[in-house]
Amino acid sequence: MRVVAGAATDKGQVREGNEDAYVVDPRLRLFAIADGMGGHQGGEVASATALEALRAAIASGIPVREAIDRANTAVFDKAEGDEDLTGMGTTLTALLTSAPDVTIGHIGDSRAYLLRGGELRQVTEDHSLVEELVREGRITEEQAAVHPQRSIITRALGVERDVDPDVQVMALEVGDRILICSDGLTDMLRNSDIAAVMRREREPTLCANALVDAANAAGGVDNITAVVVDAVGDDDAIDPAAATATVPAGDTGRPAGEGAEPADAAAAPSAPAPPPEADGSTSRRERRATARADRHVGRTAVRVLWFAVPIVLILGLGVAAIAWYARRTYFVAFDGADKVVVYQGRPGGLLIWDPTVLKTTDLARGELPEQAQLAIGGTKEFSNRGDAVAYVVRLEHRTNSATTTTTTSTTLPVPGGVPAPSPTPGATP
Ligand code: MG
Repeated sequence: MRVVAGAATDKGQVREGNEDAYVVDPRLRLFAIADGMGGHQGGEVASATALEALRAAIASGIPVREAIDRANTAVFDKAEGDEDLTGMGTTLTALLTSAPDVTIGHIGDSRAYLLRGGELRQVTEDHSLVEELVREGRITEEQAAVHPQRSIITRALGVERDVDPDVQVMALEVGDRILICSDGLTDMLRNSDIAAVMRREREPTLCANALVDAANAAGGVDNITAVVVDAVGDDDAIDPAAATATVPAGDTGRPAGEGAEPADAAAAPSAPAPPPEADGSTSRRERRATARADRHVGRTAVRVLWFAVPIVLILGLGVAAIAWYARRTYFVAFDGADKVVVYQGRPGGLLIWDPTVLKTTDLARGELPEQAQLAIGGTKEFSNRGDAVAYVVRLEHRTNSATTTTTTSTTLPVPGGVPAPSPTPGATP
């Protein structure tokens, strides 16, 4: 008997990064997935660190339970040594095949399933709050599947110095297919959906891709990872590429849709479940992850302030400068009724600052000397209020005295000394 395996992972439709990781190592006959948690980079570091340490331990011939201990220590020590990683942790579900047996090591809420004779069976127990409630008979499996606190796990790797994994040995038969997957798959798909895809897709990599695609199509609210391991007879023809595939931990997956086929009607995904909610009351992992997230938010807020305060100050100064420039000048112009008016502001306005009327007069355009009409028609500007008002006052005086002259004299003084014609021919004696 030999095993062939394929894997797929994807960050899903909602998450920014992928904190899941997996190992497919046919040489060691080791297949594992880890679903990391912890704010900032913690989740990614936890899952990658756990799988690296697990693989190194298995490669040194260390048995599964002790290898998981080593992985726990590696994650725990790394978290202790780095404030940014405090409280990180990960699930771990690992298969070590040694025909005709497989040893399954497990902690957390990732899962292992066995498809045998067309029937799918979950072979690991979730270390989760809702699973405990189901075991105690307080809620049903159906209620657990949509329970808002189903993401709270009661055991994880790397959060405490000691770890208590489940380890079991199971006899393998030719034709068996094992799936190990993260909760991003099982939260999105019913077991019957998963079984339908596993029965339909013969090749393990295509099967893993199809499972991830189905979870994405159902909402993809979490990172999704599937590793499919087939027990085949020694003489069975296999795809050499699949047989030797070794995918490093932390691989963040394939392009969406690559090598995948749409789920058929039988594999239609269930309605997307609501996204997990933090409860913070039951699980140490959740509390720690929440504390990490809070600290991260705090640091982000400080960083934002560092950038925002100078920007707001600079913008404020800029606005004040424009306002000052817009309002510092004065000009004299004709208003809509062709009367002379003193305005404060820029002719035509500047941005939101329109000129305002400072002083109105009764001086009409037609009463003014031509030179003054031209100057004012081109909007005559002044750098201070006093000059602008004085200019208009002078115009008023000049126009009033000119009017007085007109009424008391028969001729107007004309620049250049050219005598003006009599305004009223025949009136001159
Ligand atoms: Mg997950």
